[in-house]
Amino acid sequence: MTLPRVILLHEAAPRKPAEGQACNGCGVCCAAQPCPLGMLVTRRRQGRCAALRWDPGGRYACGMVSQPRRFLPWLPAAWTRAVALRWIAAGRGCDSDLQAVDPTPQRRVQQP
Ligand code: SF4
Ligand code: SF4
Repeated sequence: MTLPRVILLHEAAPRKPAEGQACNGCGVCCAAQPCPLGMLVTRRRQGRCAALRWDPGGRYACGMVSQPRRFLPWLPAAWTRAVALRWIAAGRGCDSDLQAVDPTPQRRVQQP
């Protein structure tokens, strides 16, 4: 049995869509665990990916795509962005089978 875990997300983050639906930037997958790219770049294997960024436009974004020089400043940003987009399979829909439940919506807190 998999025990539930608590992850904190921005109060304005969209709800997670079903697996296979279009990615809406809910951030659930990256807040739960880094993807292989995130593990490689941030050297974390568990917990929230350090590259996860909140976009004021109302969704989460991969920092490897939106701010590539912040994580790999010695590489050309365009190259890093292109590799990251390919590695994380951007645009192919939600590939997370996590079940997101919001048990206490009234207790949501603002993330920095
Ligand atoms: S892949 Fe799925 S869980 Fe991850 S940010 Fe996109 S919609 Fe959310
Ligand atoms: S897609 Fe980007 S933010 Fe999400 S886990 Fe991977 S490296 Fe981190």
